[in-house]
Amino acid sequence: GRKFFVGGNWKCNGTTDEVKKIVSMLNAAEVPSQDVVEVVVSPPFVFLPLVKSTLRSDFHVAAQNCWVKKGGAYTGEVSAEMLVNLDVPWVILGHSERRALLGESNEFVGDKVAYALAQGLKVIACIGETLEQREAGSTVDVVAAQTKAIAAKISDWTNVVLAYEPVWAIGTGKVATPAQAQEVHLELRKWLETNVSPQVAASTRIIYGGSVNGGNCKELAGQPDVDGFLVGGASLKPEFIDIIKSAE
Ligand code: 13P
Repeated sequence: GRKFFVGGNWKCNGTTDEVKKIVSMLNAAEVPSQDVVEVVVSPPFVFLPLVKSTLRSDFHVAAQNCWVKKGGAYTGEVSAEMLVNLDVPWVILGHSERRALLGESNEFVGDKVAYALAQGLKVIACIGETLEQREAGSTVDVVAAQTKAIAAKISDWTNVVLAYEPVWAIGTGKVATPAQAQEVHLELRKWLETNVSPQVAASTRIIYGGSVNGGNCKELAGQPDVDGFLVGGASLKPEFIDIIKSAE
């Protein structure tokens, strides 16, 4: 089976004191064992060493981005090799905020995923449609094209978690209904079955992100093709623990 996965994307938030408080809150929490749920939190780059060195050992860390190829003369970037060097096991790639605000294309995200995997990182690869695209009836085409651009560049999906994050649900309080999430997750799984392999379709975790909170997580988690969450705002709060517990 696919182990439930809960990621906390802290985005560009936090001071040293706030980060210490969040880590203390996480460290004090009683949650299901690692056999039941995989928990990964993603602080801004500058806090990765602090979080990694103070976080409980059954939770892991992710970076929120990395450069598309080997490091060098790329001012302001952080390379996959650096993350490996710091023992950061995971990286989030293709988040909609980066696609929209920093112009990351499907192809660029595919290249990043392939390069990060090749360096030994595990990848949370984000996809999702805008409200305009959903209203035009092109949701499945959009997420299939985003997934295809990744599939074109990789052959091994073992270390990939696919995060379906509809843009209209991110930071808006407008969570997808369980039926809406399930529908897209199932379409993605069918896409993987047809275009990659039945084995990859059956084993790849497809997680949902977008206004997940302590109140709506349980019903979403009950959907057969929802294998976990990528949580933004609520990952900075105690209710993140309730979201982790929705694995059970
Ligand atoms: P919110 O949970 O704040 O809507 O953000 C979701 C997200 O973008 C996680 O990557």
